[in-house]
Amino acid sequence: MSERVREPKKASSSPLRSGRNNAPPEIPPRSPGAPQLLRGMKDILPTDLPWWDFLRRQTDAEAAAFGFSRIETAVLEPTALFQRPLGEGTDVVQKEMYTFSDRGGDSVTLRPEFTAGVMRAYLEHGLIAWPQPVKLFTSGPLFRYDRPQAGRYRQFWQLNFETIGDAHPVVDAELLMLCEHFFRACGLTVSLQVNSIGDAQCRPAYHKALVEHLKPHRAQLCEDCQQRLQKNPLRVLDCKQALCRQLTQDAPQLVDHLCEDCRQHFTRVLEYLEEVQVPYALNPRLVRGFDYYTRTTFEVWPSDDESGSQSALGGGGRYDGLSEALGGRPTPAAGFALGIERIVHLLKERQIAMPPVPGPDVFLAQLGDAARKRALKLFRELRDAGVRVTGAFSKEGIKPQLEVANRLKAPFALIIGQKELLDDTVMFRDMESGIQEVVDAAKVVAEVKKRLGRTAAISPPPQPVSASTP
Ligand code: AMP
Repeated sequence: MSERVREPKKASSSPLRSGRNNAPPEIPPRSPGAPQLLRGMKDILPTDLPWWDFLRRQTDAEAAAFGFSRIETAVLEPTALFQRPLGEGTDVVQKEMYTFSDRGGDSVTLRPEFTAGVMRAYLEHGLIAWPQPVKLFTSGPLFRYDRPQAGRYRQFWQLNFETIGDAHPVVDAELLMLCEHFFRACGLTVSLQVNSIGDAQCRPAYHKALVEHLKPHRAQLCEDCQQRLQKNPLRVLDCKQALCRQLTQDAPQLVDHLCEDCRQHFTRVLEYLEEVQVPYALNPRLVRGFDYYTRTTFEVWPSDDESGSQSALGGGGRYDGLSEALGGRPTPAAGFALGIERIVHLLKERQIAMPPVPGPDVFLAQLGDAARKRALKLFRELRDAGVRVTGAFSKEGIKPQLEVANRLKAPFALIIGQKELLDDTVMFRDMESGIQEVVDAAKVVAEVKKRLGRTAAISPPPQPVSASTP
């Protein structure tokens, strides 16, 4: 168990209906050697899902408002998709990818991030022929063999937004606006850290200036940064080691080395943000983990955390060179990804109340097998009428069934016992007052709908479109 990732502190209130899952059940012992969750992997239990569902609803709402369509890409990809485009010198490619040979001998990798896969899908399925830009969003699990710790897992989930096929700086600003609105709608205050890391024109000169600055201090840099200095000098800027941070304190800044095009692009992004009053913090140290980034880069930090990207909730930026790196034609693009586990943790920490999970409208209880069959039939009829109905059909006595109804906070119970079966009736019980009435079985669906105040049934199931339909 000590192997498991430390879980964030649990918030005291559960958004689930009271009585359900409140007291943690005792976990029965398992036989030694029974399979366990792999280190750094994660199960998401029903008790956690209200937060996940909440984020999914917020994501869907932002996607609809900003015109993004959902895409789902493969979890397993050819290793080459990530190796060069992400950067041979990056931590993810060097140390963290789940790469293995499949049974056919091909090198495959569990996706460590979304962007490369989304761009592959864009190129492979000819989305370049769609009206540009193509705006796509997705979410799902990603895999990185990192050292597990709080907020860092080997399997983790991201929400991801990408705008492909548009170089205009307003695209970057729109993504930042979306990101800021997403967090505000979730009730979270965050800080948007923004920078520009230039492009292939201006970055080499900056690399040179940075290396010149750091060379005299090479021996004092941490081991990783000594290597980064050769392979990926930008990454020295976001090292978390105190001494490395100190040594880069007075390092030349990228924004001072931007070429005219990059400088103008960045200025316009910031102008748009100011116009729409999206607050941001300029952060000249902010570089991103993958080589494909160009120009605008940003990260989202919890507002009360200025310690840096260690607890970043997300990040993104422009990646104009990725399409070409994947063998496509030049296609400018920008996007960002948010870490769901970290956002859920923050929602809990800040005690943001989740909307309650709607419980059943009606609970069906039965006594005896013949009544059980009748209850099952009624269950179907109520479902078809759009009523949220539930039951505990395997239970025998009425009392234990009504206990479940109470626990689920069902406002009504319908009881079918021996007498009701013979009379073709149903006992209608108001769970709050305990008052019971006998209702004719043929009228029970209408009666339930009347009491629930619903006149219309939910829309009928979709029908196949016939060939003759215009
Ligand atoms: P990245 O793809 O590295 O830019 O990460 C974007 C966001 O995903 C980060 O800001 C985190 O919120 C989240 N994230 C990245 N790696 C992990 C991980 N190993 N475990 C949990 N969340 C992660």
